[in-house]
Amino acid sequence: MSSKNIYEMQDPQTQFFHDKFPKQPQSPPGIQSEMQPIPDCGETSYRGSNKLAGRKALVTGGDSGIGRAAAIAYAREGADVAINYLPAEESDAKEVAKIIEAEGRKAVLIPGDLSDESFNKIMVETAHQKLGGLDILALVAGKQQAVDDILNLTTEQISKTFAINVFSLFWTVKAALPYLPKGATIITTSSIQAYQPSSILLDYASTKSAIIAFSRALAKQISSKGIRVNTIAPGPVWTPLQVCGGQPQAAIPEFGMSTPLARCGQPVELSSLYVYLASQESSYITAEVFGVTGGAHCA
Ligand code: NAD
Ligand code: MG
Repeated sequence: MSSKNIYEMQDPQTQFFHDKFPKQPQSPPGIQSEMQPIPDCGETSYRGSNKLAGRKALVTGGDSGIGRAAAIAYAREGADVAINYLPAEESDAKEVAKIIEAEGRKAVLIPGDLSDESFNKIMVETAHQKLGGLDILALVAGKQQAVDDILNLTTEQISKTFAINVFSLFWTVKAALPYLPKGATIITTSSIQAYQPSSILLDYASTKSAIIAFSRALAKQISSKGIRVNTIAPGPVWTPLQVCGGQPQAAIPEFGMSTPLARCGQPVELSSLYVYLASQESSYITAEVFGVTGGAHCA
């Protein structure tokens, strides 16, 4: 986590960590506070300006990485925020709750497993009830486990990856739609893997393509309700997902270095986009995909 001024003009190649990372195996889902260096989710740098005053947001995967960056930014922009995560990530989640509360906003912690259909409904009901409304869904949670040979890819892994990354979007949106008012926004999280899939991420890359189709079709289906849907497709970003099996450990030291900006991204570099797509400023944008890739670009 750095305390650099992210609003000052500077060279993007060196703005954040751009050295080799130490190898650091963790088991999934991974704990952000144990990473070296700790990802920068805007804890000390993101400044808000009331873009989401009074809004009520549910952020899945809100304990760490990109979801944590979105949750912190939403709170700094004036929203009350509920975050979902797995029970094993309670320590990361509590840090986020503290940051949200320090902004004078409400933080609601909803641990639970998104691969369980009934939990998705409970999560939405809890968020709606405890926040006193719901008008932003930032669906960020995801599972990524690299397997180099399809013959070693188990049905259990394929099923879990699809359940968490894709089916939970259906379940969450079905539960939330009755509550979402006109002006509400849904943001899903795809990946550059939808466009340039790695040979070791067959199941994951397939889910990330599915998320784009889901988001665009949903955007068209619910535009008449006044609800917009967009998806963000990150390139390599320094988060627990990558060190707990998303990449082979051998790929960790040079993670992100093959992008044109020659480093991986930090979660805070996605904060403004999650805010923009949640806010009324993006009023004419729906069914779109936004790449944040350090120049590796989505097609
Ligand atoms: P992360 O590990 O910080 O976040 C992933 C989160 O998913 C975890 O914190 C966990 O809470 C949640 N999760 C996993 N399994 C779950 C389950 N069964 N039930 C509930 N929650 C569960 O990593 P991240 O990189 O910030 O990932 C956020 C999103 O960004 C994911 O959808 C990922 O696919 C996507 N993404 C990441 C990168 C990258 O390079 N880090 C690149 C492209 C896309
Ligand atoms: Mg986490």
